[in-house]
Amino acid sequence: MPPRSNTRKRVLSGMRPTGKPHLGNFVGALDNWVRMQDQYECFFFIADWHALTSDYADTAQIKANSIEVLLDFLAAGLDPERCTMFIQSHVPQHAELNLLFSMITPLGWLERVPTYKEQRENITGKDLGTYGFLGYPVLQAADILIYKGDFVPVGEDQVPHVELTREIARRFNMFYNLKGRPVFPEPQPLLTPAAKLPGTDGRKMSKSYGNTILLTDPEPVVRQKLKTMVTDPARIRRSDPGNPDVCPVGDLHKIFSDPATMAKVNEGCRSAGIGCIECKGWAADALVNILNPMQARRKKYEDNPRLAWDILEEGSARASKVADTTLREVRAAMGMSLEYEAPGKLSASEK
Ligand code: SF4
Repeated sequence: MPPRSNTRKRVLSGMRPTGKPHLGNFVGALDNWVRMQDQYECFFFIADWHALTSDYADTAQIKANSIEVLLDFLAAGLDPERCTMFIQSHVPQHAELNLLFSMITPLGWLERVPTYKEQRENITGKDLGTYGFLGYPVLQAADILIYKGDFVPVGEDQVPHVELTREIARRFNMFYNLKGRPVFPEPQPLLTPAAKLPGTDGRKMSKSYGNTILLTDPEPVVRQKLKTMVTDPARIRRSDPGNPDVCPVGDLHKIFSDPATMAKVNEGCRSAGIGCIECKGWAADALVNILNPMQARRKKYEDNPRLAWDILEEGSARASKVADTTLREVRAAMGMSLEYEAPGKLSASEK
C-alpha cells in the first residue's frame, strides 16, 4: 500500500473497460501514468460505470474487461506500492456525490460539452439519448472531486471536462461550505503529450475502428498487423520516394524507434533506398521491444488472477476511506450529516 502523502499533489484518472487496452491507451494514458507514480499521489481507476454510459445494453463482458484493464495497468508498470488502483463501482461513494452534484448542475452546462454532441452524432447503432450519457461529465466530476484531486491528466479534447468539474466545484462551494471554508479544490488539467498514434488503417487508433494493436498481441500478430498497415500512398513502386511525415508507419517510428532507426527511415524512405516491408519490420521490432517486457510482467498475474483481484480490492478499500472523508464533509456542509442532532440545533450546525 502506498504511503499517504501530505506533500505530493494528488492525481486522478480512469480508463473505461470497453475492451482490451491497445497501444493508443498506452501512449495516451498508461505510459504517462507510470511516470507520474513517484511525482504525485496517484489514484487510477477502472471506470466501469462510465462504460455503462454508452455500453449499457450488454454488460456480459464488463467484469472480464475490467480485469483485462487491470492486468494491463500492472503490465504497463503501475505498481500497487506506489499508486492506488481501484474499480469505480466498488467505491459507491462516487454515486452519492454524483447524485448530489446532479442536483446543482445546470442542464445547459452538460448540453454544451463538445464531446456530448460529437459522440451523439458519430456513434451510431447505440441509443445515447439517455440521462446517464448526458450526465457522464457529472459522474466524472464526482470521480475527481471525491478525492479532491489537484490534477487530472488529460488530452486536449478532455480539457472542457476538467473545466466543467471546476465549475461544479465552484458552484458547490458557492452554495455550501464548512464554516466559510470551501469543501472542494478546483482541479487543474495536466496536459499529456499528444502523440499522434495511428491505427493500422491510418486513422486514429481506436477500438471502434477495428485498427488497434493490443498490448497483449503476441509478436507474430504484431508483425502481421504491421505488414498490412497503410503507408504513404505516393510509394506505389519500390523505386518511388516517400515521406515518413505523411506515413502512419513513420508516425509509429517517431514514437517508438530510437534516433538511429529514425534517421535510417528518413533517409531511406525519401531516397527510395529502403522498401516499406523493411521499414515496417523495424517498426515492428520497436513495438515488440516495448510489448515484450509488458507481456512478461502481465504473465505473473494472468497465471494467478487472484493476485490482481486482491490489488484491486485493497485499492478500492483505500479509495473508499478517502472518499468517505470527503463525503462526511459534503454532508456536513449541506447540513445533512448522519449524526444525531438535537431538535432546535438542526440548522446545519456543523457548518
Ligand atoms: S518506407 Fe517506411 S515511412 Fe516510408 S512510406 Fe514506407 S513504411 Fe512509410
